[in-house]
Amino acid sequence: MNDIIIIGAGTAGLTAAIYGQRAGLSCKVFEKYAPGGQIVNSPSIENYPGMYGVSGYDYSMALFGQAQKLGAEIEFSEVTGIDFSGDIKKVITSSGEFEAKAVIIANGAARRKIGCKGEEEFEGRGVSYCATCDGAFFRGKTVAVVGGGESAFEETEYLSKICDKVYLIHRRDVFSAAKTAVDSVLKTKNVTVLTNSVIEEIKGENAVSFVAIKNRANGSISEIPLSAVFVAIGLIPENGIFKDVLKLDEAGYFDADENCETGIEGVFVAGDTRKKHLRQLVTAASDGAVAANAAAGYIRKKFSE
Ligand SMILES: Cc1cc2nc3c(=O)[nH]c(=O)nc-3n(C[C@H](O)[C@H](O)[C@H](O)COP(=O)(O)OP(=O)(O)OC[C@H]3O[C@@H](n4cnc5c(N)ncnc54)[C@H](O)[C@@H]3O)c2cc1C
Repeated sequence: MNDIIIIGAGTAGLTAAIYGQRAGLSCKVFEKYAPGGQIVNSPSIENYPGMYGVSGYDYSMALFGQAQKLGAEIEFSEVTGIDFSGDIKKVITSSGEFEAKAVIIANGAARRKIGCKGEEEFEGRGVSYCATCDGAFFRGKTVAVVGGGESAFEETEYLSKICDKVYLIHRRDVFSAAKTAVDSVLKTKNVTVLTNSVIEEIKGENAVSFVAIKNRANGSISEIPLSAVFVAIGLIPENGIFKDVLKLDEAGYFDADENCETGIEGVFVAGDTRKKHLRQLVTAASDGAVAANAAAGYIRKKFSE
């Protein structure tokens, strides 16, 4: 039996493994796809302290290697069920059932996609899901933001300060973002808001160069030349297997605070999967460290009594 089972080998999970191993605990990490999580295909990271311009792949492999060097075991299996009812926690995976004294859930969140032609093809070459991460690559250029909620307005405001022109494209004619955010963006000179509009296709040669937009009110199609499309239609937390035992907020994120505690003894959450304002590598790493430290404290107290 391992001391800690960690679900997910993204930044939060692997940081938890690093801190757990260094605290003298044995950590086993389950990952259903590839180490690194969401960042693995990102061409360049510019906002992680101490690293500038490192690719998502190199960053992910460095993190993976570091966790392994410290003795963490990483197994490529999907976690499909859990039993947190006893002092010893059970985790069911595609390769069997495993037990541990504590569990850290670091399963991240998936970005919601538009689903239009060209979106997948140009991901990382003009299609982005994070303006804070990739906006700087399009300084002085024309870009579009897709969405009508808080994050779309935040991203539009952010991009309007660094880009020449920003189109905000929204499928409806009402916005779910706060009125203050909407009013502020509507007053911004280099922002054009296109309502009742959807992107039919993202086009280009090696990178995005224009989009075809359909007006849902009259069916007309128009083309706009631009360099990037920022999709801000939300994240999808994939916490279904935990919903009956752990508290989730209305959007489906774990309702855990900065201490990463879930309310069930010995079960902690870290990274994008928990309720928070800023979902970034640096906050995921921070959570991983906090959760591992909390798990170590819990194990020492509980199992040495
Ligand atoms: C395109 C893109 C670019 C980005 N660029 C930046 C950037 O430049 N700077 C920055 O700070 N942030 C960036 N971000 C955000 C950053 O990647 C996330 O905030 C960060 O990855 C969150 O880490 P995490 O460990 O919480 O979750 P994730 O990275 O989502 O990792 C979770 C892992 O858990 C695994 N998993 C999920 N469910 C299971 C299961 N049931 N069983 C086993 N494994 C499971 C997943 O496969 C995944 O590998 C970017 C995001 C994207 C999508």
